[in-house]
Amino acid sequence: MKVFHFLPLLSCGLATLTSCSVEKKQVLERPNILFILSDDHAKSAISAYGGINAALAPTPNIDAIGQDGAIMQNMLCTNSISGPSRACLLTGKYSTEHGYYQNEGGIAFDNTQEQYQKLLKENGYTTSVFGKWHMMSEPKGFDYYVIHGNNSQQGTYWNPVYDFNGKKEHVEGYATRLTAGFALDWLEKKRDTAKPFCLMLHFKAPHRPWRPDTCYQHLFDGVQFPYPATFNDDYAGREKTLGENMATVENHLSRNDLKQTPPANLSKEERNKWMSWGGSGKNQFWTPDSTLSKNELKQWKFQHYIKDYLRVVRSVDDQVGRVVKYLKEKGLYENTIIVYMGDQGFYLGEHGLYDKRWMYEESLQMPCLISYPKGIKKEATIKKIALNVDIAPTLLDYAGVQIPSAMHGKSMKNMLAGDTTAIKNWRKSAYYQYFEYPKWHNVQPHYGVRGERYKLIHFYYNVDQWEFYDLQKDPNELMNQYKNPIYTSTIEELKDEIIRLQKECGDTLNLKDRRKLTDKFMFKY
Ligand code: CA
Repeated sequence: MKVFHFLPLLSCGLATLTSCSVEKKQVLERPNILFILSDDHAKSAISAYGGINAALAPTPNIDAIGQDGAIMQNMLCTNSISGPSRACLLTGKYSTEHGYYQNEGGIAFDNTQEQYQKLLKENGYTTSVFGKWHMMSEPKGFDYYVIHGNNSQQGTYWNPVYDFNGKKEHVEGYATRLTAGFALDWLEKKRDTAKPFCLMLHFKAPHRPWRPDTCYQHLFDGVQFPYPATFNDDYAGREKTLGENMATVENHLSRNDLKQTPPANLSKEERNKWMSWGGSGKNQFWTPDSTLSKNELKQWKFQHYIKDYLRVVRSVDDQVGRVVKYLKEKGLYENTIIVYMGDQGFYLGEHGLYDKRWMYEESLQMPCLISYPKGIKKEATIKKIALNVDIAPTLLDYAGVQIPSAMHGKSMKNMLAGDTTAIKNWRKSAYYQYFEYPKWHNVQPHYGVRGERYKLIHFYYNVDQWEFYDLQKDPNELMNQYKNPIYTSTIEELKDEIIRLQKECGDTLNLKDRRKLTDKFMFKY
């Protein structure tokens, strides 16, 4: 077992890595890049976005990035699931183009294709990645990497296996602190200081199963978190889609998710079955207390779920603060672009759910805060529709590297600088695609278009369900208005827009071939 003594193991690890001496002022003109990605971090769990959890569970260090730069209000995912979204970030392309369109089915990311860190490295940057990679192929285009190296590449919260540039080792400690520590160690001791850097810091948290650090086990004890307005959504008008989901707080959180203690004397197999009960299958009822009513049980599960989720978020926020503090102490902050993102959106009880995947707002919307003192004014609020595929071209643009024409995304640099022409000419609609079914959580494959006011979705795998939402009148997407005649012409326009956007991103699959992609999935319930 490998132990890194520069990391305090029992504290929350906020100490600075080394001395506070300021490094020689970096004279390089090109900016450094710190790209921070967390896994499954919802906008509703970042206080800069406001919302019902902001006062009880603030995230001051993540907020500070947006306060010193821009808060993206409509950063949308093009495929709301981990590996595919990460591939979109790296390639600047849609899933059907980069090929890593679902996590399941034995698919791996083709690492020979163009990625922005490869281009940065070829153009004089030193590059690294730390934490969750989850692409099922080796990271390429990095001078150094330390990634979660267990078989699923999901990572574990405690004592993780890390892959150090191809060599795997167990490391004692808490993943969120460890991963930030490896990044700081690279910044301090390993990077080529003659070059600008691009560092990707990818936390495993706050992904399931939400295991808090020791110091935060009792954070929020005695606190009652508020219930989202749509917590008791009955899925009327969406019976064939959202109504068939298997990611409800009420019925699809396992005993392991909610940290139950198994009975003594179970075999290992029995114990695993007991702990995973309730997590994904149908009719897996369990309760910690048979006296709880149906509604009380749902609320009990929600409170346990959201508290652990926000506890692990607290550690992420701490470590973001730790790394930003290091940059400031070393005189690197002013010339560093810092991006904080989640890899997609996530449900914290909205519509009664946890998890992601859907084109509905909570899972479509990614948190994204960007600071760059030399290029972004403080407290900028960007409401235009940005996409995960915009990140690669944007960072290349800041670095002065030519953006490949094959990238679907657009550089946000001028928009972030406040250029009114760039803002006026920015995209007004975006295309979405999702393929993975039935695992996990029984979400029908779908595609659709999201405009500034309207959204049209087509669920097609073994249903033929269209859904249309007027986000101005119905921001919570409770009323499917597809058959409302007042929207007929708008819906026809959006269908044309889908075809236009599909051509633009190279997705011209017919429904039969679209279903075939999902059918690569090897396991069934
Ligand atoms: Ca994720």
